[in-house]
Amino acid sequence: SIPVLTIDGPGGAGKGTISSLIAKRLGWHLLDSGALYRLTAAAAIKHAVALDDEQGVAALAQSLDVAFPVGEGGVRTLLEGEDVSQLIRTEQMGERASMVAAMPEVRTALLQRQRDFCQTPGLVADGRDMGTVVFTDAPLKVFLTASAEERARRRHLQLQEAGMDASLPSLLKEIQARDARDTQRSVAPLKPADDAITLDTTRLSIPEVVERLSELLAQ
Ligand code: C5P
Repeated sequence: SIPVLTIDGPGGAGKGTISSLIAKRLGWHLLDSGALYRLTAAAAIKHAVALDDEQGVAALAQSLDVAFPVGEGGVRTLLEGEDVSQLIRTEQMGERASMVAAMPEVRTALLQRQRDFCQTPGLVADGRDMGTVVFTDAPLKVFLTASAEERARRRHLQLQEAGMDASLPSLLKEIQARDARDTQRSVAPLKPADDAITLDTTRLSIPEVVERLSELLAQ
């Protein structure tokens, strides 16, 4: 079977950066499942579907027209042909994504689309429920965490690099609100899979985390 490495954890723990570095190193495919929830929220806003209209949002999720073309500036994200790379990365869209992600029908609608990313030679899957729901048979499951303060600090830097501004205290509040929503929801709550290895990255650099994961993969 095709090998899958699942990397789950709360927002800002470094999953995105780490997942793409590991995928590149291994030459494996990459699934940024959070982007699918962000895109679903963006589609709802675009089509004026209320974010609490479960059936309406699930229908959009099911028929989501997205593409991830690779160009000179890296991977772009297109929704119905429109470049939404910047739009979906805002903290506000993260908040909206976590609202639509709490609805079971929306999660079901995205399930097969996520599993379709599993192709040879392998997949690195980044999200909240990769190890607990989507790829339960994955041979290596990692749960990446860091303190909320450290995650807010990282988000702050990341947004600054992308030319977006946000205050550190407001980011910390948003991260804590999103943690609460993601861990307390009834469907696919954020938690490590029983067979996951938890890695606290609060005091680790990106290369240190990549090294640790490479060691685990080699075992
Ligand atoms: O990882 P990212 O911040 O892009 O995810 C945005 C939101 O999408 C999360 O806060 C979470 O509510 C939801 N999500 C999810 N399951 C995933 C990935 C993301 O519920 N596998």
